[in-house]
Amino acid sequence: MRVYNFSAGPAMLPIDALNVAQSELTDWQGSGMSVLEVSHRSKSFVACAAETEALLREVMSIPTGYRVLFLQGGASGQFDAIPLNLTAPGATVDFFKTGQWSAKAIKAAQAQQLQVNVVADRAESNYTDTPAADSFTIDPDAAYVHYTPNETIGGVEFGYIPETGDVPLVADLSSTILSRPIDVSRYGLIYAGAQKNMGPSGLCVVIVRDDLLGKARPGTPSIWNYQAMAEADSMLNTPPTFGIYLLGLILKWVRDLGGLSAMAERNQAKAAALYDYLDASDYYSNPVAADSRSWMNVPFLQANPELDKAFVEQATAAGLTNLGGHRSVGGMRASIYNAMPLEGVEALIDFMTDFETRNR
Ligand code: PMP
Repeated sequence: MRVYNFSAGPAMLPIDALNVAQSELTDWQGSGMSVLEVSHRSKSFVACAAETEALLREVMSIPTGYRVLFLQGGASGQFDAIPLNLTAPGATVDFFKTGQWSAKAIKAAQAQQLQVNVVADRAESNYTDTPAADSFTIDPDAAYVHYTPNETIGGVEFGYIPETGDVPLVADLSSTILSRPIDVSRYGLIYAGAQKNMGPSGLCVVIVRDDLLGKARPGTPSIWNYQAMAEADSMLNTPPTFGIYLLGLILKWVRDLGGLSAMAERNQAKAAALYDYLDASDYYSNPVAADSRSWMNVPFLQANPELDKAFVEQATAAGLTNLGGHRSVGGMRASIYNAMPLEGVEALIDFMTDFETRNR
């Protein structure tokens, strides 16, 4: 019995990819072993990692001149690794602060002795919107500009790519990667923890422009040194093998459904169904500005917050799991990543209507 899992991450994965993984788990490619038991240096696994990278390049249309790295340590590891790889201590960097994840990235950059200039701080809206595209000024001497295109906790998503001139743009795409087409050429560096749209936790994907390699500070841990990892094809040490394998299966699923434009259509329809329902309701509400609403994470409140626990419990009993809001904001949150079908969102809406009828 599969449930509709609305977790923010680790999150629901496509059943087709899980079924393939299950069917070949105990005997991968006729090896008599699972992929979990195969050496990362074996011919077959090296080919598997190369195939995953090729699929990612194809699905995301990654231009030449970018390296793809399969790392560990999660997106949080990159909060530190990016300053270590791209800057000298004391350098100035520009950050957008649009929620709790960008705030954490800022703290890490400051701890790595960077002068952080916050070009837009949306704490003043309680992180319910993104800055207007013409409301900020980028320092042309900044080492890079960092932003979080989708804030997983607040459910706030940029509707545009910030214009940064010649300053490299760095994006934490953890909770929106693969959700729609993206112009990779606009970015200096993209990173994403895999455990939402890409597979299991333990894998972090970094896509970095060649000219940003080779600038790491002395003493940067080698497993987080982009140049060293690029030279070793991400295999300086044992990589997260199962994650790389499963990402390959998920990318085939994305490709076979029609790629990122098909994902965008699917995700837009799901988000529209839920936001339209919330906007038409006088019992439920979503606090986010209309132009900044996430396609992936939809926080919502009900008129009787004392019933939040009952809502989450009864939803779970109905096969709709992990709807509790983030512990810091309360309420509810539905994460509707790529693998969530429209039927899951419709089932949630039906449940919400029923819950309201019984409780208002
Ligand atoms: N950035 C964003 C936008 C996230 O949603 C998360 C995790 N939810 C992180 C960073 C941290 O990722 P990790 O747990 O992989 O370090």
